[in-house]
Amino acid sequence: MVYQALYRVWRPQSFQDVVGQEHITRTLQNALLHEKITHAYLFSGPRGTGKTSAAKIIAKAINCEKAPVSEPCNECDACKTITNGSNPDVFEIDAASNNGVDEIRDIRDKVKFAPSTVRYKVYIIDEVHMLSIGAFNALLKTLEEPPKHVVFILATTEPHKIPLTIISRCQRFDFKRISAASIVNRMKTIVNEQQVSIDEDALLAVARAADGGMRDALSLLDQAIALSDEQVTLDNVLMITGAVSQQFIMTLVQAIQEEQVPVALQALDDLMNEGKDPKRFVEDMIYFYRDILLYQSSPALEDILARVKVDDSFKNLAQDMNPNRIYEIIEVLNKCQQEMKWTNHPKILLEIAIVQLCQQEKQSIPQVESLVQRVKELEQEVATLKEKGITVSQNQNEAAAQKEQRPQKMSKSSYRVPVGRATEVLKQATRQDLSQLKSNWGNMLEQLRKQNKVSHAALLSESEPVAASEKAFILAFKFEIHCKMAAENTNNVRDNLEGILYDIIGKRFEMVAIPESEWGKIREEYIREQRSDTEETEKQEENPLITEAQKLFGTELIEIIED
Ligand SMILES: [Zn+2]
Repeated sequence: MVYQALYRVWRPQSFQDVVGQEHITRTLQNALLHEKITHAYLFSGPRGTGKTSAAKIIAKAINCEKAPVSEPCNECDACKTITNGSNPDVFEIDAASNNGVDEIRDIRDKVKFAPSTVRYKVYIIDEVHMLSIGAFNALLKTLEEPPKHVVFILATTEPHKIPLTIISRCQRFDFKRISAASIVNRMKTIVNEQQVSIDEDALLAVARAADGGMRDALSLLDQAIALSDEQVTLDNVLMITGAVSQQFIMTLVQAIQEEQVPVALQALDDLMNEGKDPKRFVEDMIYFYRDILLYQSSPALEDILARVKVDDSFKNLAQDMNPNRIYEIIEVLNKCQQEMKWTNHPKILLEIAIVQLCQQEKQSIPQVESLVQRVKELEQEVATLKEKGITVSQNQNEAAAQKEQRPQKMSKSSYRVPVGRATEVLKQATRQDLSQLKSNWGNMLEQLRKQNKVSHAALLSESEPVAASEKAFILAFKFEIHCKMAAENTNNVRDNLEGILYDIIGKRFEMVAIPESEWGKIREEYIREQRSDTEETEKQEENPLITEAQKLFGTELIEIIED
C-alpha cells in the first residue's frame, strides 16, 4: 500500500475534528441544522488552519442524504463521493494554478445548470486572492445573482487582496492560528491511533515549529516518525525543524544575564558546529524573550506563549529579568536579524550581538535616566548662578579649593575619602531625610535582587546610610574596597542605586561613599566645628553638640557618655 501522509489520512471529515476553530464550526453547524445556508462563504486565515477541510465538510453536510444535519454522515454516497473527490457537482479549484478568466467564465456558464447527483453545486475556490482582476469581475457577476442551487466557498490566506465588492457578498469567517496545546492534543489522538510512541517534549516542539498550522504540524510529525527508531524524541524533532532546545536557549540567556561572554560565545559556537542556522536561531531567541515578557505580564495565559515550555527554570528566569532589559535585548536581536539579510556571514553578526548583549547591562536605562537628571540639575545651577551673577573672586576660589583638598586623605586602598563632600552633606542633613532613606533601604535592596543585580546587592549589603539631606546622603561601608567600588560606579552600581531610590522615593539623591572607619572621625570633626562656631556667636547655651547630633541622627542613635 502506498504510504499516505498523516495530514491526508487525518484530514478532518466532520466539524468536531476541525481543531481550534470552535467559534466557526459551531456557527456553521447551527446554520446547517436550520438550513440557513448562504450562497457565498469567505474563509480567511493562516495556512493549515482547516479552511478547505471545513469547506469540504460543508459541501458534504448540505448534500448529505440525511440533511439537514450538523455533521455529514460520511457514509452515504454523496458524502463518500465528495470525500474522495469524485462527485461531479462539487468542484475544488486552486486559484493559484487556475487564475485565468476562462476558468471562472466556465464556472459562470455551467453554474446555471442544476446539480446532477446532489442538492447543491459547490465551488470551493482555494487561494482565491490569486485570481486576476478579470476573473474577479467574472466571479462577481455570478455572486451578484447566484442560482439557488449553488454555494461558493472562497478560501484565502490573504483576504486584503480580495476586492471589497466580492467580500461584501460573502459571509466571512476568520480562521485563527491553532494554539500549541490544541495541536498537541490532536497529535496525541493521531499517534495513539497509529501506535507510535513519542515523547511529550517532542510533540510540543512539533506544535511550536508548526506555528499554528495543523497541516505543517502533521507534516513535521510524519518526518520525525520517519527519522526515529522506536521512540520519537525531542532530538528527532529538533533535527527536522532546525530549532534549538529550550534548554540550550536558557543556557545562552543565562550567560547573557550574567555577562559571561566566553560561556555565551562557546555555547553559540557549539550550536553553529551542529549546523544550526544563525538566522533561525536569532528568531528563536527573539521569541523566547518575547515569551518571557508575556509570561511576566500574565502568567495565567500560558497558552499564548508561542514557543516556550513553562517549567521551573523558565519561571525563575522570568522572575529575575527586568522588563526594560528584555526590551533592549529584543531590540538588539531584531537589529541583528535585519542586518543578517544583507550579509554572507550571519554567524559573525550573531557573535557581535551576543557580545553586545553581555556588555549592554553596563549601559542600561538607569544610567541614562540619572545622566539626564544630572544634566537638568546642572542646567538649573548654571541658571541660578547667572541670575545671581558670579561674584566669587579668584582668591576666594582658591581658598575654597584648598579647603576642599585639605581634609581629603589617601587611605590604604587608595580611596580618596571625599571629606569635603561629606561635610557639605552634613550641613544640609536632617533627621527626616535620613529616616525616609532608611525606611526605604530594604525595599531598594529588594529591587536590586529583582533586577538580578546580585553583585550590586552584595556590594551594598554591608553598607548603611548614616546621614542624609534633601539631595545627597552618606553611605558608610564596612569594607573600604566596597566603598571604593561603589564610589567609582563599578558596574554602574551607583547609578543603579540612585536610579532605584529615585523610583521609590521620588528624589534624586547623590550617594557619598565613606568607609565606616572614616565616618566616625568625619562626624566628630563636623560636630566640633559646629560647636566652635556656635560658641563664638552665642556662648554655649545647652549642649549644642548633642542638639546638633540629635538633629542629624535622631535621639535614639546618640549615646551620651558622661566623662
Ligand atoms: Zn452523508
